Amino acid sequence: MNIASIVVDVPARQIDKPFDYLIPDHLIGMIQPGMRVIVPFGPRKIQGFVTGLKETSDYEQLKALIEPMDLTPVLNKELLALGDWLTETTLCYKISAYQVMIPPALKAKYEKKLKLSSKANLEELPFDIQAIFNNQDTVTWEEAVKLSSLSLLQKEAAEGNVEIQYIVKDRVKKKKLKAIYTKLSKDQLSIEKENLPAHVVKQKKVIDFFLHSDEPVEMRELLSALGVTSSVIKGLIQKKILAEMDIEVYRDPYEDRNFTRTEPLPLTEDQEDSIRPILASIEENKKETFLLYGVTGSGKTEVYLQSIQKVLQKGKEAIVLVPEISLTPQMVKRFKGRFGDQVAVLHSGLSVGEKYDEWRKIQRQEVKVVVGARSAIFAPFQNLGIIIIDEEHETSYKQEENPKYHARDVAIQRSLKHNCPVVLGSATPSLESYARAQKGVYKLLSMPKRMNNQSLPSVDIIDMREELRDGNRSMFSRTLLEKIKDRLEKKEQIVLFLNKRGHSSFVMCRDCGYVVNCHNCDISLTYHRFNQHMKCHYCGYESVAPKHCPECNSEHIRYFGTGTQKVEEELSKILPEAKVIRMDVDTTSRKGSHEKLLDQFQEGQADILLGTQMIAKGLDFPNITLVGVLSADTMLHLPDFRSSEKTFQLLTQVSGRAGRHELEGEVVIQTYTPEHYSVELAGEQDYRKFYAQEMTVRKIHKYPPFYYISLITVSHEELLKAVSVTEKITAYIQSKLSKDAICLGPVASPIPKINNRYRYQCLIKYKREPDLNKSLKKMLDNYQQEIISGGLQISVDVNPFILM
Ligand code: ADP
Ligand code: ZN
Ligand code: ZN
Repeated sequence: MNIASIVVDVPARQIDKPFDYLIPDHLIGMIQPGMRVIVPFGPRKIQGFVTGLKETSDYEQLKALIEPMDLTPVLNKELLALGDWLTETTLCYKISAYQVMIPPALKAKYEKKLKLSSKANLEELPFDIQAIFNNQDTVTWEEAVKLSSLSLLQKEAAEGNVEIQYIVKDRVKKKKLKAIYTKLSKDQLSIEKENLPAHVVKQKKVIDFFLHSDEPVEMRELLSALGVTSSVIKGLIQKKILAEMDIEVYRDPYEDRNFTRTEPLPLTEDQEDSIRPILASIEENKKETFLLYGVTGSGKTEVYLQSIQKVLQKGKEAIVLVPEISLTPQMVKRFKGRFGDQVAVLHSGLSVGEKYDEWRKIQRQEVKVVVGARSAIFAPFQNLGIIIIDEEHETSYKQEENPKYHARDVAIQRSLKHNCPVVLGSATPSLESYARAQKGVYKLLSMPKRMNNQSLPSVDIIDMREELRDGNRSMFSRTLLEKIKDRLEKKEQIVLFLNKRGHSSFVMCRDCGYVVNCHNCDISLTYHRFNQHMKCHYCGYESVAPKHCPECNSEHIRYFGTGTQKVEEELSKILPEAKVIRMDVDTTSRKGSHEKLLDQFQEGQADILLGTQMIAKGLDFPNITLVGVLSADTMLHLPDFRSSEKTFQLLTQVSGRAGRHELEGEVVIQTYTPEHYSVELAGEQDYRKFYAQEMTVRKIHKYPPFYYISLITVSHEELLKAVSVTEKITAYIQSKLSKDAICLGPVASPIPKINNRYRYQCLIKYKREPDLNKSLKKMLDNYQQEIISGGLQISVDVNPFILM
């Protein structure tokens, strides 16, 4: 087979298919599907993925591929097929589907370079160009544009004096060590030793060492063990008595930590009832999806661990997905503690190199379990026995960029190929999953009780409007303050939670109500205290906070919204004796700081842990007896049909941090809308009631899980263009849909302008439209030209999680 089908790295519709390339003679037999190769494409050399091999092509005059980038395939057969499935279901390009499945280190980086043509005569070229190529004939693009205008470069390129080159740079740097070994037998070594002149004692000493050792030895170790210098070894290598080789070592981010081994716990009745069907499914190689609905602290993790144990006994592998935010060291410890170095960990805190090393362990089948965030769902295991998704309701399982996949869908798709179960676990399942469990599509497993029958914490809901009416202007209600003081006295620990999402600290004039917005985007600027700057989180625009209101010139312009820093300040004023650990993006940006802060809190070095989203999940400390939610409803008012669900989930999760062990827990939720059912029912910790109520709302408004939705967002610098394109798209799609479907548009997006581009959208609600994806693709094809030339952007999100 001397022809390779290759998907090249050009994200564009017309190119979104395999092209045939000839395999040069010397590479025949070496090129395999799933490898990356470098191919000529037009004037460029670019990267591509081999998707198949064949004998004949419909095309004559094939170009030859240049060289392989990998020695072994980076995608196996199953993952290549999964890539096709991703392309179909999320409407992404094939190349994006393949790229998303490999670690970032393997994503080729193209280095753009400017090269002087061989025919050009440098002396005759303009001064700027001479300056660029001052005694070299290739420079980086960045250097070139620093010294010359783009138009000049364009002109010289048109005349053929310079050209742009794309050089594929492979970013992988394996960490390597030199090792020394010998190819000679012991007898040959002895003879060599005899033949050496008497005075080379050191070389003889080294030979002696290898007479008693069969393993390659790391160079540095050898030198220090024998007290010789590297020149001694080099001499022996020259004489062909020894040889050297590179050994690859893994950068293990957890290497210097010891994990105490744990043994399986005897299961409770609830756990037994839940694990039985999972174990049966593993045993019988069944492709089933379970929804493990278990309240916080019910022991779901132990069920995961013992299910995995069974999978390992069968010689198979396991993927465990955990939301990035709860991929805490605590969580990692629980898996490493049970399965030791059979576990690889993948999360965004790792460096590119570390991620690559963990991925290689999976690829080489040196580990059996991967615990990771969303993209770990693509772990290149070949013999999967189970896929577990913890906190399955978390929206971070949906990728917002192309390919816009949901890890849950990918998990189920992979389980079909591997004949293995999928376990979705949550204390607050997504409405979609719970509805599927109700219909029997998923098997429902329930663990309604906490471990040792610990009661769920009691919850107080405090109406902050009333506090204000009674003259309390502080951010702490009287109840919460009282309880904090009580815990401080008892030396018990407190968690204070501030919901920052959708809660920007904006700048507003108290006299006229003017809010400082971004010029480019229609949203308020976020205030940053440390440099007194305001910043737009969409386009990056930044400016100094005004001292006077631009509208009415009042001095009473100041920032609103409560940041963790501000809470910390207020705490230190009213409770100076309390020791506070603050956890937010500022205090956890350094590697390992997250873990350090948690360790300090666990060791009792502080009374109060104050933080944002990142403390809502996964914390399991025995001494926490009070959880305070400072602002429960900041998320309720976002333009998103899931805002009630998200509020309920978050409040329930945070409350679940209290009283998980012997000591009983209490929760105080402060809110401006205590009457809202998501707040009220989170207070009662009644998921089923919330589910029932929210389902009626979804039904009335025709939202998931009753309807599927797809969102088309169009953006353009000209308002009229954005509107008219959206109008045409809406009409086109509408004409392709059945009567039951609804096509809402064109309407301005909730954020109507980002980065000076106007945004319009069309929301499609439907029950069954088998041809919808085809129509959407056709629509995208139709606008391809305008998209390429840069003016128009169209994004399609099938099952979107962000509607803005
Ligand atoms: P969840 O993940 O459902 O919130 P966890 O798995 O964190 O709950 O379990 C809560 C606590 O109960 C943990 O400290 C865990 O070690 C403990 N635990 C779980 N299963 C058992 C068991 N069968 N026997 C004793 N303790 C258990
Ligand atoms: Zn004003
Ligand atoms: Zn902006």
